[in-house]
Amino acid sequence: MIVMKFGGTSVESAAAITRVAAIVKARLERRPLVVVSAMGKTTNRLLAAAEQAAAGNLADALTGAQELREFHRSEIAALLPEDRHPALDAVLDREFASLEAALLAVNQAAAVTPALWDETASHGERLSSALVALAFPALGVPAKHLDARQALITDTRHTMALPLYSRTYARFRELAPPLLEQGAVVMGGFIASSSAGVTTTLGRGGSDFSAAIAGAGLDAGEIQIWTDVDGMLTCDPRVLPGGRRIRTVSFDEAAEMAYFGAKVLHPATVQPAMEKNIPVRILNSRNPEVEGTLIVSRQVVSGNPVKSIACKRGITVVHIRSLRMLMAHGFLRRIFEVFDRFRTPVDMVATSEVSVSLTIDQTHALDDITSELARIAEVSVVAGQSIICLVGDAIRDTPGVASRAFAALRDINIAMISQGASRRNLSVVVSDDALRGAVERLHEEFFSTLDPEVFA
Ligand code: ADP
Ligand code: ASP
Ligand code: MG
Repeated sequence: MIVMKFGGTSVESAAAITRVAAIVKARLERRPLVVVSAMGKTTNRLLAAAEQAAAGNLADALTGAQELREFHRSEIAALLPEDRHPALDAVLDREFASLEAALLAVNQAAAVTPALWDETASHGERLSSALVALAFPALGVPAKHLDARQALITDTRHTMALPLYSRTYARFRELAPPLLEQGAVVMGGFIASSSAGVTTTLGRGGSDFSAAIAGAGLDAGEIQIWTDVDGMLTCDPRVLPGGRRIRTVSFDEAAEMAYFGAKVLHPATVQPAMEKNIPVRILNSRNPEVEGTLIVSRQVVSGNPVKSIACKRGITVVHIRSLRMLMAHGFLRRIFEVFDRFRTPVDMVATSEVSVSLTIDQTHALDDITSELARIAEVSVVAGQSIICLVGDAIRDTPGVASRAFAALRDINIAMISQGASRRNLSVVVSDDALRGAVERLHEEFFSTLDPEVFA
């Protein structure tokens, strides 16, 4: 069997779902488990409604829900014969009654608690998966719906839950095979439930991770991530258009790219696939003939030491200077303990005799963190920064990558530099304003000649 995951843009409309059905139909003999994201921007809309409900504005929140209902109804009704419309309305009645109850609970709590965030956001994939399963037969694809919350069991860390792997794999092995006998199995990504049956989610962009978990549990022959670009590209197209498609990358390189901002793949996706040695392929649902990017367990040898330039915009740099002359023993531990306590991941770190600089991208607890740190250090915060990360397994054994990078960036102010511990990345921090120019120069330097075996 194979897993085929379709992201939000790939299921955003009747036309998009029609394209998805044709892609799945052509691969039915490979017994696909289809994982879908919420349609279009539904997750953002649901979370906006939750914010309104929390702020006391229940009427607007319910209007938002009503608009979402109309959007789903009109796109799916366009795909169904008249006699299937009652089935469509039954799904909509069920899910929107549940959504309204969630918004009411948010309104009463006057806050979007993590559990209510999950409950509200889950409706996007609950709807899309039930509706795609309903529409598929009308588009020539026999289909069965699988509620992800029956199979994917997680801990209770709401908004970023982690799977309980052995139970989850066992559930997939029990539930999916009988359904796969009957056609394509359609399941929502992103959503799961705790052992107690409470809805959880895997975090924003988590449908890729769901696909990898399902694939690993079912020993899939391949995990396909269908999205809106031709594959992994040599640079982030939102920062610099015109990047080239990478034909093949290693799991390690793909994980590093994802971690440093290549949104095309959720950072956790690679791990379950890597453990079971299942190839992952990134494909374009609008351009299905292109062979995409294949992610494999071996290293991919190439004439180009850098495979891609990933970036993360809107990063905050925290400079911490010890109040003593030297960094005393235990100073770093005390600093990281503060970030840990406020559940704020640190991405890049650079140290000197008396100071530490580090980057974070979640600033929800920054005020608390800086006031804690101020007891032991002088702290300054610089927002509006970007990390640029050159990724390639060969960076570690290729002399001259750093000198080429710095020469290319010679007139750009670099706030921080780090070679990742894996030595397969070289990262710099520049201001958001300088990002595009910096990526352009690095791209010119590292990709003006391309190894045709590895790049298209
Ligand atoms: P989906 O909804 O299918 O999950 P996402 O928006 O999460 O799609 O991811 C696809 C997007 O990732 C692309 O449209 C592109 O803008 C972005 N992206 C960032 N870096 C890269 C990269 N190196 N290669 C390809 N796409 C990238
Ligand atoms: N719908 C979820 C989100 O927007 C999950 C996903 O698309 O992967 O974050
Ligand atoms: Mg995504």
